[in-house]
Amino acid sequence: MANLGEVIDAASAVVKGMGVTLKEMMAPTVTENYPDEPAKLQERYRGVHELQRDENGMEKCVACFLCAAACPSNCIYIEAAENTEQVRISGGERYAKVYNIDYSRCIFCGYCVEACPTDAITHGHGFEIASYNTSTLIYRKEDMLVKIPEGAKPPVITEHVEAGAH
Ligand code: SF4
Ligand code: SF4
Repeated sequence: MANLGEVIDAASAVVKGMGVTLKEMMAPTVTENYPDEPAKLQERYRGVHELQRDENGMEKCVACFLCAAACPSNCIYIEAAENTEQVRISGGERYAKVYNIDYSRCIFCGYCVEACPTDAITHGHGFEIASYNTSTLIYRKEDMLVKIPEGAKPPVITEHVEAGAH
């Protein structure tokens, strides 16, 4: 049989719970009019990835493969190439000549972002990627690479990708 202390504890828990319910009942209803209006996403939302550039416009990715190694879905494919005097794409020795993410497999866990030593890969806010054709879910570097910052003068670039992130 429950003693008085347990009864009081249970009653106060019910009152506390009902307090939360009442507070939420009184709060104004928030309805998002998506897709008529843009969806409001939290800053930390993990959407389609972006491949970042440094202040000089160079690609931050140095093709170290750590993101691919950390990926539990094995959905990152990278081909590395060496920077040369004539072709300099990143600030490191190597750059990602090919960088693909297969969004039919990505679970948006963020492990790749955490693993990256140069902050080259981040999550953007893109989420409208549903497709009936899974081949369109393989995003290439050109799809994810951010634009060269305005005013940036990359030291040497004889080959670059003109693209905006999704
Ligand atoms: S978010 Fe997760 S599953 Fe998606 S590419 Fe990065 S590590 Fe892989
Ligand atoms: S995105 Fe980052 S972790 Fe992945 S290969 Fe490039 S530098 Fe390495």
